[in-house]
Amino acid sequence: MSTERFSVLPTTQATAAPIRDDILRNPGFGRYFTDHMAHVRWTLEAGWHGHEVRPYGPLTLDPAAAVLHYGQEIFEGVKAYRHADGSVWTFRPEKNAERFRRSARRLALPELSDEDFIDSLRALLAQDHAWVPTPASEADESSLYLRPFMIASETFLGVRPAHEVDYYVIASPAAAYFKGGVKPVSIWLSSHYKRAAPGGTGFAKCGGNYAASLAAQKEAETHGCSQVAFLDAAENKWIEELGGMNLFFVFRDGRIVTPRLTDTILEGVTRDSVLTLAQDEGLTPEERPISIDEWREGAASGEIIEVFACGTAAVITPVGELVTEEGSIRLAAEGDNEVAKRLRTRLLDLQYGRSEDTRGWLTRLV
Ligand SMILES: *Cc1c(COP(=O)(O)O)cnc(C)c1O
Repeated sequence: MSTERFSVLPTTQATAAPIRDDILRNPGFGRYFTDHMAHVRWTLEAGWHGHEVRPYGPLTLDPAAAVLHYGQEIFEGVKAYRHADGSVWTFRPEKNAERFRRSARRLALPELSDEDFIDSLRALLAQDHAWVPTPASEADESSLYLRPFMIASETFLGVRPAHEVDYYVIASPAAAYFKGGVKPVSIWLSSHYKRAAPGGTGFAKCGGNYAASLAAQKEAETHGCSQVAFLDAAENKWIEELGGMNLFFVFRDGRIVTPRLTDTILEGVTRDSVLTLAQDEGLTPEERPISIDEWREGAASGEIIEVFACGTAAVITPVGELVTEEGSIRLAAEGDNEVAKRLRTRLLDLQYGRSEDTRGWLTRLV
């Protein structure tokens, strides 16, 4: 650990413990933030420097800051989990660090080292560990959601990669993402809007991808759906993913299929973990293209027995139905989403330290 590189300016206005405890009892998602934030600055001349943890608060940005105009921005999503002995851990952060560098390269931002990435989480948690909720039971999925992000902060309206960049980590206590736990969600199939195209930014975790998905999200809501599934831009045929989660299909014969990674699919850490844990469950993982026709026909014939979405925020969420312009696709063999539930339990047991971490997936933060 070398978090000493981060200087600490403690807040003089820390949230009072009773107020914090009140928030932690019912944090929702993304509504409350902790007392501090981590920060590292980058300039073309000096590289990365000025590692610090300072009081959480508004940023001062010039109205001409490049990020406000051209969206040169990337982010990550990581959770910190409190274990029964009070220690605080995070899950495969080296995967997020690596993906953050990949996103940075695509958005022409400077790469932050994996060491700086992981140490920034540790340095923030050293100050704000009291904000990590203590789960009341195994059904309590509360955690501290960590949001690292990088922005082009240079004051300049010309179009070129910024010469001044800032990296921050903020933290927000979080309850389960979807209320009602593993209740199946309805998903809208976007037939008009596309999330990503070959050669574009689909594989990068950048704000622009999310901005581009919001019109489809609005469409979904008018059809009574909470999420959007996107098809590929080239053929309008292949399943890619949701706006912020990867998709899995469970077949009756024990195969579990997820779309093969291309530059139009975000490589989820949860996706990768599910592919591994599925083998422990005796399933046969397959990464290959899967078409909307295969979904429709497999659902009708009973060949596909479950569909679920996965990501750090919502863990694993069963998909109950896919609503399309041509009507709704439901599973003929609709069951109780047993596979999704089993994988979900495996993942959560690991993350909360209730099962042995045989793969070295956990990193201690506090
Ligand atoms: C973050 C994200 C995911 C899920 O990734 P995890 O690492 O599992 O949290 C999936 N799709 C998109 C578009 C994302 O931005």
